[in-house]
Amino acid sequence: MYRLTIKDILEATGGVLLCGDENTEIKDVCINSKEIKPGDLFVPIIGERVDAHRFIESALHTGAATLTSQHTDIVVSEKPFVYVSDTEKALQDIGAYVRRKFKKPVIGVTGSVGKTTTRQMIATVLSGCLNVYQTEGNLNSQIGVPLTLRRIDENAEAAVLEMGISEPGQMEILSDMVKPDICVVTMIGVAHIEFMKTRENIRKEKLSIINHMSPDGVLFLNGDDALLAEVKGDTGVRTFTYGTGADCDYRAENLHMEDYQYVYDFVHGDTRVHVRLNALGKHNVGNSLVGLAIADYMGLDLERAAAGLSEFKGLRQKLIRVPGKYTIIDDTYNASPDSMKASLDVLEDLETTGKKIAVLGDMFELGENAEQYHYEVGKYVATKKIDELVVVGDLAQHIMQGVQDSNSDINCYSFKDNGEVALYLLSVMQPEDIVLIKGSNGMHLDEVVNNMLG
Ligand code: ATP
Ligand code: MG
Repeated sequence: MYRLTIKDILEATGGVLLCGDENTEIKDVCINSKEIKPGDLFVPIIGERVDAHRFIESALHTGAATLTSQHTDIVVSEKPFVYVSDTEKALQDIGAYVRRKFKKPVIGVTGSVGKTTTRQMIATVLSGCLNVYQTEGNLNSQIGVPLTLRRIDENAEAAVLEMGISEPGQMEILSDMVKPDICVVTMIGVAHIEFMKTRENIRKEKLSIINHMSPDGVLFLNGDDALLAEVKGDTGVRTFTYGTGADCDYRAENLHMEDYQYVYDFVHGDTRVHVRLNALGKHNVGNSLVGLAIADYMGLDLERAAAGLSEFKGLRQKLIRVPGKYTIIDDTYNASPDSMKASLDVLEDLETTGKKIAVLGDMFELGENAEQYHYEVGKYVATKKIDELVVVGDLAQHIMQGVQDSNSDINCYSFKDNGEVALYLLSVMQPEDIVLIKGSNGMHLDEVVNNMLG
């Protein structure tokens, strides 16, 4: 982490020091009063439910410096106490300030789905050649990004940052803060459509990631996404596509599966590198391609860069083989229509002599057309070579309806809770069978997985 003092904080935020010493060094920036350590800077954010200003006194007591946009009269402390007009904006100013100190390439990754996976793949590939800093966990929001920027490793040779948005206008703020040198847009889907209304709006918003890109920067678009492929010549900046299609600038050729891994040739102009990817799902081929495309663009050794992909770890989607019992694709962390379809593709692509079962739960945050999106997933299920559909949850009933209206011979079952789903699976599944389990996090479908492993 870069060394920062209160003086830097005052310069970054335009704040006023109410008490304490401006030469005090600050360590991490912390927004959670329960996680403050001595020497940190506590930034009280005003949330929808809680105004964290109420924790200021305890923060000062812990021995942390603190920002405030209120209560300017309450505390006289030995610890630095800084007044700013807006604490969230101040946090972003601090992130931007640290970003300006970092002179190495910054890669910003956005998209409706695939941000975390793509960011990890890019970091894996670049790590073959460089010391890479990357977003921790899922810290990709208006608050997560500045925290990520504050923590940048000053010795890193590249930073890969995830940038997530849920409302119009937010990408402009993130782009201004991150000032990416290289931008990646993974896909335009319907996540957060509740706030964004149309996919074109979502595309426009995601593409504003380039608004504050350095002038000699470059944009990589997933060419397998129709909405992104069509804007390629139209972005005003140097733009490349990546994907499995023959017309993508960076593409995969001779793609096939060997022992549950994808194998392909990475091709760009005369460059051709053999790749083995330890991940399921054809979308992950695209996610890995952009890592190699960036490595190629940066002039790195591609053989070394590609090597890490054969041991790639970190997908939320996990393949769990329980010998003698069954195989589970555990994708219970989250779900949107696009990621659900991608996971159904994975289930279809896996080879087995046994049955294929999809257990699908509700997808949240889809707005007023939520039922329709579930129904469309059902229509998609009906096109897949799978044997059974199991649904749980109110919205997921519309997935089943979509299948039943499609004249498909997939057997459909609906259960009232996760316990019943697990009991059913345990009673019917045979050693060669594969089950995909997926739904929004709030459906707690991990309970089904745990039950089957327990
Ligand atoms: P969040 O908004 O929660 O941060 P994210 O954009 O980081 O999500 P990931 O966590 O990488 O997305 O992936 C979420 C889901 O989307 C996973 O189930 C994954 O299998 C699927 N997925 C990943 N990449 C793609 C892609 N390019 N196309 C479609 N689905 C994808
Ligand atoms: Mg993520």
